[in-house]
Formats: sequence, C-alpha cells, structure tokens
Amino acid sequence: MDYNKLAELIFPHISQTPDDYEALYPARQLPQGAKVTRLGPSPTGFIHLGNLYGAFVDERLAHQSGGRFYLRIEDTDDKRYVEGAVEIIINSLRFFGINFDEGATMNGDIGHYGDYTQSHRGEIYQCFAKKLVSEGKAYPCFLTEEEIADIRASQEAQKLTPGIYGKWAKSRSLTLDEIEANIKEGKPYVIRLKSDGDMSLPEDQIRRIQVNDAIRGTLDMPANDQDTVILKATGIPTYHFAHVVDDHLMRTTHVVRGAEWLPSLPIHIELFEKLGWEPPVYCHTAQLMKLDEEGNKRKLSKRKDPELSLDYYRNQGYHPAAVREYLLTILNSNFEEWRMANPDADINEFEFTTDKMSTSGALFDLNKLNDISKDVLLKISAGDLFDFLKAWAAEFKPEIMHMFDDRAYLEKILDIGRKETKPRKDHIYAQQMVENISYFFDDMFKLEDSFPAEVEAAGDTEAILTEYLKTYNHGDDQETWFNKIRAIAEKLGYAVKPKDYKKNPDLFKGHVGHVSTVIRVALMGRQQSPDVWEIQQILGEARTRERLQKFI
Ligand code: GLU
Repeated sequence: MDYNKLAELIFPHISQTPDDYEALYPARQLPQGAKVTRLGPSPTGFIHLGNLYGAFVDERLAHQSGGRFYLRIEDTDDKRYVEGAVEIIINSLRFFGINFDEGATMNGDIGHYGDYTQSHRGEIYQCFAKKLVSEGKAYPCFLTEEEIADIRASQEAQKLTPGIYGKWAKSRSLTLDEIEANIKEGKPYVIRLKSDGDMSLPEDQIRRIQVNDAIRGTLDMPANDQDTVILKATGIPTYHFAHVVDDHLMRTTHVVRGAEWLPSLPIHIELFEKLGWEPPVYCHTAQLMKLDEEGNKRKLSKRKDPELSLDYYRNQGYHPAAVREYLLTILNSNFEEWRMANPDADINEFEFTTDKMSTSGALFDLNKLNDISKDVLLKISAGDLFDFLKAWAAEFKPEIMHMFDDRAYLEKILDIGRKETKPRKDHIYAQQMVENISYFFDDMFKLEDSFPAEVEAAGDTEAILTEYLKTYNHGDDQETWFNKIRAIAEKLGYAVKPKDYKKNPDLFKGHVGHVSTVIRVALMGRQQSPDVWEIQQILGEARTRERLQKFI
C-alpha cells in the first residue's frame, strides 16, 4: 500500500511537517543536567493531595537542577472541563509554595514551547499521526462500537486477552480503495497504532522491554501488543499520544506521574520508538495511602477522605510551610534525619532525590502532619503568625476579623509559653488556633468546663472568687500572686499542698489546685489552659476583674 497516499487521504489539511515542529521547538538551552518537568492536570476544578505530591517532585527536580517546571493543561477529555480550573490549579499550588516557570496561566501562555493547552494543539497531534500513517505505523480503523463489543465477547469466550490486535484488528488489512470508499461514505474512524507486538507468540517469545524508572529502578515488562487508539474519531488525541508528542516537543526530561500509568507505559514506549524519539525519564510515584480505622492501608478516596482535597488544608488553615515539611517526610525517607541534623535550615537546602521515594504506597497520616505542624509553627514569629491567621480569617472566617484589631494583644496571645526552654506547642492550624485562643475575646468567651466538683460540693465558688478579687493586685509578680492563692486555700479549708489532701482527704475540702482552677474557669471558661498569671497579664486588669466579677 502507498502509505503516503493514505496519509494524504486522511490528513489533506495538514501541511506542516514534523521537521517544522522540531525547528519551532528546539532543544532547550539549559545547563548540563538541568531537568525539565511538567504538571499535566485535567482541568476538573478538583485539585488534590496527589497533585500536590507530584507537583512537589516536579518542582524540586526542576528547581534543584536549574531547570524548568511548566504547567500543561490536559483537557482532551472535554467532559471534565470546569471554568476557572486553571486559576484554581495555579493558586492552590502557589499557596503551597509551588510556582511554575512557564506554561498555561490565567492570562495566556508564558514560554516558547506552547501552546500549553492540549485542546489547542490539534494540528500538532495530527501532523505526527500523519507521519505515523505515512510510514505504515498507524492506520485508520473503522470498527464500530458493536463490532468491538462482539470482538470482546468472542475473546472472552476463548479466554483471550481483550483488545484490538493481530487478527482482530480487521481494518489493518483494508486496501487504499476500501479506505477511500469508507471515508467517502462518511464512516467514522479512529487512528490506531499498528503495534509490533505479536499476541500469538508463546509466552517466552513475547518481546519484553526494560524501562529505567527514576523511582522504581529497572522495570521489565512485556512490550505493547495492542493497536491502541491514538486519535479519536473527533481527531482529538488520546492521553497516550498527546503525552508522547507534548513531552517530546516541550523537551520534558522527567515525567512524574502516578503509578496508575504504569500499565500503559509499554504503549508510550512503543509510541516513542515509532516516532524515533528518546523517551523521557519516567518517575512513577506511589499511591497515597492511609490507615483506616482497622489499621489497614488503603488508597485515599475522594468520597471518603476530605483530606484528599487541597481545599481541606486551606479551609482548616494549615500553614503552607507545615504542609511542605510534612510532604517531604513522606516523599523522601531521609528527610526527617536531615531535619534533625539541620533543625534551622531552609527546607530548600534539603537535596531531594527520586531514589529515596517510596514505591509501595506513601502513607498519609493527619496526626503526623499535626505533629510536624506544631514544630514548624513554633519557629514562626508571632508577627508572621498574626499575618497568616488574618489572611486565613479574611478568606474563611470573616466573622472573627475583630480579633485582628489589636495587633499587640493578639501577638502576645500567640506567643504564650513559646519562649520557654521547653516551649508550648499549642498551635497546629488556623481553625484550631482560633478555637484555642477564643477566650481572650469577650464575644467568643464560653463556659466550656464546669468549676471543680470539690469546690461546687462545698458551695465555695463565689467565696473563692470574692476573696481572690479582694486581694487581687495586677502588679503582683507570679510568686506573690500564687502565695495569695495559697492563703485563700488555707483560709477556706483547702490543702495548700495537693499531696496533703491526697494523704488526708477527710481533713480538707480540696486543695490549692482546685482553688486556682476556679479562677481559671472564671477567666477562661476552661479547666486546662496556659499559666493563669501570664494570661491575666495579657487580658489586662480591667478585663480580668470584669470576668471574675461576673460569677459573684
Ligand atoms: N492528565 C493526566 C492526569 O490528570 C496527567 C498524567 C501525566 O502527568 O502524564 O492524570
């Protein structure tokens, strides 16, 4: 068959040649060893932890090596397109410190390797499909959906691998005249790769391929044998074909993507071979897993696990530095060790490598994130925490904006207990922090705990608060202040030392701890809190007296 004629018959409108595109997108001028990576999300409007996990790898590989990281919009499946999705992708990733050097943006493309939106690249894909057809490496297939279903049914009945290959690929044997007639009749067709694989060979003679994956090492797998669709009947490419053409022309050196693409890797390798191109280095990342209630590892699911969505971290108000720090602990097994040796180093000084990545499933654990967040937030100054909280509240909790009216007040609150040798680690994420410190603001004060039972039983709550107010001097130092509480305890029949009460519970109504808890509850509405004296200093004299007075 004259394949050139066939190619002209199918693609008469394609006048550009592969050489034109090779010239339009020349090799990048980058330093030796510089990596070029990309994120290729579908614009569904849902951006999840897996995207961030992969983007992090892309970003580190590119930026650590002086390379480029770009955004390509993979919208060939138009059913999934959501308006504003590009903005969502860029903004969510930027929030977590991930920035692109080139690619699609809200205001058009940046960079010389575009267009960076797949739906705008139709002619490019068709040009390379034309090349494959003209070399007899791809062909038009006119099988209808019913015919394909019948083929599948016979294959199932004969226990054969399903798919279009070998003798099942009936359109392979059409003559040029038959093809021309079909096209004239308006029969719809797709373009399929003419695979070299031969399914009829005995198992041990099937060709195998070896692919070096930067995360998984050498992968040994059977070569592709399916006549995979490369252009759909609409002329739109499948993911397989679009990825190969784009990553070649955009001069991508490393393709980071999820393990769900491993089964189709042989297709991509065959496509690269047939097009005469060097494949990129593949980096197939592990699935994100979590431990369920029974302690079993399972994949994070969009339906069951709200923490899969990146919005979750924004809404809860996790600090991006904490999320980055946590992601690195699950991305690279040696990160925690490095962090211990370099507690104050900038996170970007850590040398990220793909060979320290897990292959079996990265375990995602919110409790661990929370622990890491506590340590990360401890290193952030009260001033910066104030700004972070304020920005979060403006977006997610505007009703609490009055908390930010008095900067000095809130900064003091945020710094409680953080300067000690064994500092308090109260702060985890914005939502939790706001709840934690809400009692400092009169309109948010709530009586969350009751007064101690021992005191209530003796009917002493009011008496304690009255005594306390009587001797209260806002200028007392911590020791003088506590001695006054001891005096009240003694006067009202409470043990000054808790251990005396424990030894002889019948001799006392309770102990000094119960007395101070009364004050704590009156001031903060809670039985547990940081140091009462310190809190009073922050609340100020007027507010302190007012709160105590309310219970008398
Ligand atoms: N568009 C593909 C996806 O959303 C990207 C896979 C890739 O990075 O190659 O899964």
